[in-house]
Amino acid sequence: MKYIKSTILILLILLVIPVSAKNKIDPDRLKSKCESILGDNQGTIIVIDLKSCRPIVVLNPTIACSRESRPGSVFKLVTAAALLEKGKIDPHEKMNCKNNFRFMDKKYICSKTGGHGKVNLFEAIAKSCSVYFYEKSLRISESDLKNTAEKFGFGRSMPSVSAPSKPSPGKCTPPSDPRLFIEFAVGDEKGIKITPYQSANMLCIIATGKPLEKYGDDPEFRWNTLKILRKGMEMSAKTGTCKLISKSGIDGAGKTGTPTNERIPDKTHGWFIGYMPAKNPRYGVVVFLEDGNGSAHAVPRGVEVMKILR
Ligand SMILES: [Zn+2]
Repeated sequence: MKYIKSTILILLILLVIPVSAKNKIDPDRLKSKCESILGDNQGTIIVIDLKSCRPIVVLNPTIACSRESRPGSVFKLVTAAALLEKGKIDPHEKMNCKNNFRFMDKKYICSKTGGHGKVNLFEAIAKSCSVYFYEKSLRISESDLKNTAEKFGFGRSMPSVSAPSKPSPGKCTPPSDPRLFIEFAVGDEKGIKITPYQSANMLCIIATGKPLEKYGDDPEFRWNTLKILRKGMEMSAKTGTCKLISKSGIDGAGKTGTPTNERIPDKTHGWFIGYMPAKNPRYGVVVFLEDGNGSAHAVPRGVEVMKILR
């Protein structure tokens, strides 16, 4: 009997040791790997422990916490949340993206030549269809969108996170002109500016329902709203702008952004926010590139980080 008990104990220890060793992340080693992944690019990489809602790595903290820039399509998640929270949208209802959207005296273009075709909310998040969000954003008011963005932490001061300089609150002032408002709703208008660390906070809220540690109270989004955003991000990782995640054999979710770069004419920023695993998020990854494209430049770097974490 004694022999059986000690054999069971040894077997248990053997089973537990590899699991805990695998789950243990050395922050210094991870930071040095993230530095190599970022390379010579100006920008930041942030890794979040989604179980504790604490950052594990924050590269270039001044850029992470103080660099304000347009979020681009990452902000479509905020517009989607506002539409869902206000009950203004059926996420399964499809609309037809024919590449452009004519509104008042302006023509707005979607990223895909020929259009995305029929898309519902999940597909619009996954494929980052701007026409879908231009059209649907007209169902919500400036204050609806502003309030939702503020619940995600945009446009308000945040506590310091070991940054050498004072964290920036960013900017969140939706324009009253509807022609500009619909550009604001897709994150590419001068009234919306966020820091990479704020996007990490949004990622944490979407993945867990809770903000980053020290980032204030639970924003109390409906669980179904967050579930729908996550489903769109999961679809993005499978078939959309972040499909490199699943192509690399990673079970995760993500969203890209490629907004106007106000500092360098004709250039864009590259954004990626993502988490893994898809169903029980453990780690969040943010990549912000001063000069770059979301799916072409930020996603591959985010995926390299995810490969280390899996
Ligand atoms: Zn489209």
